[in-house]
Amino acid sequence: MREPITYIIPVRICGAVSAGIGCAALAGWLLELPGLASLGRELIPMAPSTALLFVAYGVALLLACRATGGRRTTQFILFIFALGAIISGSLLFLSMRGVLLDIEHLGIEAIGAVAGSPVGHMSPIAAVTFLLFSMLFPALLTSGIKRPLLTKGVWWIAVIVGAAYSMLILAYLFGTPMFYGGAFIPPAANTTLAFMALAIALLALSQPLAWQETEPHGQEAPDSSPVLIVLFIFLVAGIISAGNFYHRNHQKEYLSGVERQLSAISDLKVGELLLWREERLADAGIFYHNADFASSVKAFLQQGKGGQARQRIESWIGNIQKNHNYNRIFLLDPQGKTVLSMPQISAEPLSDSLRQKAIKSLRTGQITFTDFYRNEFGGKIFLGILAPIFDQAREGAALGVLMIRIDPEEYLYPFIKRWPNSSTTAETLLVRREGNEAVFLNELRFGRNAALNLKLPLEETKNPVVMAALGKEGVVRGIDYRGRPVLAALRSIPDSPWHLVARMDEEEIYAPMQERLWITVVLISTMLLCAGTGFGFIWRQRSASYYKRSEQQTRRNKERLQYLLNIFQFESNDVKELLDYALNEALRMTSSTYGYIYYYDEATRQFVLNSWSRDVMQACSVVSPHSLYDLGKAGIWGEAIRQRRPIMVNDFDAPDPLKKGYPEGHVPLTRFLTIPHIDHGKIVAVVGVANKETAYDDADILQLTLLMGSVWKMAERKEKEREIEKKNAELERFTYTVSHDLKSPLVTIKTFLGYLEDDIKLPDNPRVKQDLGFMHNAADKMSQLLDELLELSRVGRTGNPPQSVAFIDMANESVRLNAGRISERGVSVEIIDSPVILFGDRSRLVEIWLNLVENAVKYGGDEPALHVEIGCAMEDDGPVFFVRDNGIGIDPRYHKNIFNLFDKLDSGSEGTGLGLALVKRIVEIYGGRIWVESEGVGHGSCFRFILPEAIQR
Ligand code: ADP
Repeated sequence: MREPITYIIPVRICGAVSAGIGCAALAGWLLELPGLASLGRELIPMAPSTALLFVAYGVALLLACRATGGRRTTQFILFIFALGAIISGSLLFLSMRGVLLDIEHLGIEAIGAVAGSPVGHMSPIAAVTFLLFSMLFPALLTSGIKRPLLTKGVWWIAVIVGAAYSMLILAYLFGTPMFYGGAFIPPAANTTLAFMALAIALLALSQPLAWQETEPHGQEAPDSSPVLIVLFIFLVAGIISAGNFYHRNHQKEYLSGVERQLSAISDLKVGELLLWREERLADAGIFYHNADFASSVKAFLQQGKGGQARQRIESWIGNIQKNHNYNRIFLLDPQGKTVLSMPQISAEPLSDSLRQKAIKSLRTGQITFTDFYRNEFGGKIFLGILAPIFDQAREGAALGVLMIRIDPEEYLYPFIKRWPNSSTTAETLLVRREGNEAVFLNELRFGRNAALNLKLPLEETKNPVVMAALGKEGVVRGIDYRGRPVLAALRSIPDSPWHLVARMDEEEIYAPMQERLWITVVLISTMLLCAGTGFGFIWRQRSASYYKRSEQQTRRNKERLQYLLNIFQFESNDVKELLDYALNEALRMTSSTYGYIYYYDEATRQFVLNSWSRDVMQACSVVSPHSLYDLGKAGIWGEAIRQRRPIMVNDFDAPDPLKKGYPEGHVPLTRFLTIPHIDHGKIVAVVGVANKETAYDDADILQLTLLMGSVWKMAERKEKEREIEKKNAELERFTYTVSHDLKSPLVTIKTFLGYLEDDIKLPDNPRVKQDLGFMHNAADKMSQLLDELLELSRVGRTGNPPQSVAFIDMANESVRLNAGRISERGVSVEIIDSPVILFGDRSRLVEIWLNLVENAVKYGGDEPALHVEIGCAMEDDGPVFFVRDNGIGIDPRYHKNIFNLFDKLDSGSEGTGLGLALVKRIVEIYGGRIWVESEGVGHGSCFRFILPEAIQR
């Protein structure tokens, strides 16, 4: 890790948490303590394979945080993550194909299932997360400063994974864990916690690297707060929506539970009612088509009250009546008159309507179940079963009807009323439809005298009772007879006109939900409070550290100004001295031990070492001044050029793919900061400082950049001053020589004017002509001098538009222009052909050859066979032009001087001493160089020159 220690601590804590949770789960499996592996009886346990990977990843993170970790440790960490990737990848692949390996249990016995998922196997969600982390952690630990985009990406992935896992944790907290009972194995509660820890570690690791680029120069204002605010809003929104989601989910589940309960109760009741009806019908069936009973009835009707038959009948009926607790059993004759009733004690007589039905049953010949009816004598409600009795002997002649009367208060009403649990509002209602009305058949829990009295018009379709009477079945919501919202299960009872309604007030149903809602609200509020406190804490930390930083920055700005002042006041003779001093001040400013300044040339991609700190010279045996280094060979210190930005390494021992190592004898480095200096878009220099006692930070980058910027401007000014000084000196020399050289023809003219005055007095003096001749010559010489001076001053200022011209043309033209001298002196000129094409001001370029050829002829001396050679040699760096002669040659002592203004080796020679100076100026305009090769007087001379910027390639 290369970043401030504050980020290491959370990574360490998270690594320890991950390893701890993994160890606890493994211990839970081994010691058969299920609570350690699953955190709850109904929760799925963490698989041993998952636990092992958490231990491994946690250890890897702890190792990565060690300050002294070397290459070996890094390799080991990478190995752990690679192994994790292989394991989780293969388990994911296999589980996708439905294969679950027992090897995953690591030899521990793991059998059984939770929520339909087999225990002891890694969840595919966990496998995917492991796979993701196996790539992200190594990427982060090895990529370092080189890929800020990647680290930013990792940071965001960590945020997303963290958010996803916090949802899973919330789901566990709300008691509705996700993916339970789904298609695949859900991640265990402790697995989600451990992944959360790993996600936080990833976040902490990528945080300093990810945002380094956006705040590179210590100008870190509290502008990171928008990120913090957005994160906080996300978290709050996440917590609230998760709470809302789980509350609704729970409400839905709870409601469907209540619905199931209502349905079950109504189904149960319908079943029992059916059974009850069947039993009653079976009782009546005992007398129906019963030959024995029929003959007894026949005998009784014939014998009258006192006969034996009566006793038999009474014993039949009495048994049934007593055993089944019937209200009363009547025997009616075919006209519907009661001939016998049991028990005998006087009671309200049979209802008329029932009598009619009894007579009717004789016609149909079927057992009839008469519905609830109210007896007009006494007003009680009864049900009845009518069994017609026929004479078996006389072709079924009607003998009478046996009527069993049932009092619903005895069994039916209490049964209907009964509710299996202690509800305060639940009840069951029995209804039937009568024309356009729904009639209540039983008494109400919240009402009196409703049976057969309370009737609802069928238009009241919101009432579940009406819905039931209309034949609707299932669970419905509606408004009951009290006008309260209720939930009701509706059932029709087969083979009867009855409908059953099991209903419960919504208020009672929602009461526990209300309680639950409060718990949820308290939970969410606590979580929001925690989140708020956490963020508030981070915020405070950040602003505190920001103010601390800005205070530091102000202090450092002051210091920098002081250092700059020192540098300004420093009296240096040249740029190197200035830079040496500036470097020294830079070291003091950044509290560094070593430092250097390199010049860098973007064209050649080479460094030239300019300044280095004194300590480096003592400690480092590999530094040599003005050594050239190629960028390609430069290690991490070349990164400042490659990335065109400051590079900061605070833990030099940590593995980094950018480092190429340093040669033996190099000063040992611990921390290192290098900054490129960019001038007009070009990197012109690199400054580096190293081995500060504490970590370098953004403020160092800023201070060093600002210092270097000012120093560079001072250096440039110094350089310009030096140039101006040089030019001034040249100008001084020039004025001196010009005045001196112009003076000599003037002196000549003046002298001969004096002679002329004397000579003119004598008539016809031949000396007058001679004097005038000398004066003419001197004036001509002066005019030539002035012309050539003018020419020289024009070079580089005015010119013709550039054009392509062949070397050979130029050579020919120079010979042509010198043709007079050449033929006069009898010189042999040889032009060696070459295809080189030049591009530039034609007439200026011609002047080079013109002057050189002229000199070659002029300084031929006594050589009888004067030979001049004009050519061009192709060398590695390009063509080198030459003009060679076998004339008087030049003493090597004067090889440099001859190119100066007015410098002539023989003061009596005819030239002005300006020709070669002019040639040199033109050559330099084309980025070239001219020099002379001559072994000395009498050995001839060869003038060579290059014109790199005029060569057409
Ligand atoms: P000048 O006008 O005197 O020729 P130049 O600048 O052309 O001035 O040359 C400077 C001096 O260099 C000359 O005076 C001469 O002494 C020497 N020189 C130039 N060219 C040659 C040559 N080809 N051989 C010998 N000496 C030369």
